[in-house]
Amino acid sequence: MILIFFGLPGAGKGTQAALTSKKLNIPHLSTGDILRNKLLEKDSKSKKLKEILESGNLVSDEILNGIILRRLDKQDCSKGFILDGYPRTMTQALYLNELIGLRKLTISKIINLSVDSEVVINRMKSRSRIENRKDDKEEVIKKRILKYLKETKPLSDYYRHNFSSNYYVIDGNQEIKKIQHDISEIL
Ligand code: AMP
Repeated sequence: MILIFFGLPGAGKGTQAALTSKKLNIPHLSTGDILRNKLLEKDSKSKKLKEILESGNLVSDEILNGIILRRLDKQDCSKGFILDGYPRTMTQALYLNELIGLRKLTISKIINLSVDSEVVINRMKSRSRIENRKDDKEEVIKKRILKYLKETKPLSDYYRHNFSSNYYVIDGNQEIKKIQHDISEIL
């Protein structure tokens, strides 16, 4: 089972991917979490990485594709995995197709959590208070939304056209439980 959670920052991908991961007993791969963990290593590259994350820009495709390549080959991914926050660009989406194709696997479902921008902005502001994520400050939130619209949103058309029978849109404005219920229905 290979699932991709797709949607604006703050759409609830992380929450829903974590709940689904428990339910299906397959790992939840959040590239945002992987990158935030890398910051803790405090090596020569982490200063640059910190600047990128805190500015709301995207980290390079090369770095992200390398992370995913290494992560997918770990034993715990053998029965499937859930991607949260990857792919975020067309280059990443094509690279993922290649990786999955080489392993003779296919993407099971792409779940687009569709939310209104006002809902997302409010959720991210409250997350900033709880988790102290520096990229959840208002001006950075706006930048992240713009990045999403420019770089990531075009992927929804790509997946809708090329994976139409496995592409689902779910109303992410609803409560966590209701969203999880809707996800369970399509799995
Ligand atoms: P997230 O927790 O998914 O919102 O990701 C936090 C930040 O990590 C993003 O704003 C980007 O700077 C970086 N990031 C996470 N995933 C990717 C990706 N697939 N491509 C590029 N940058 C990413």
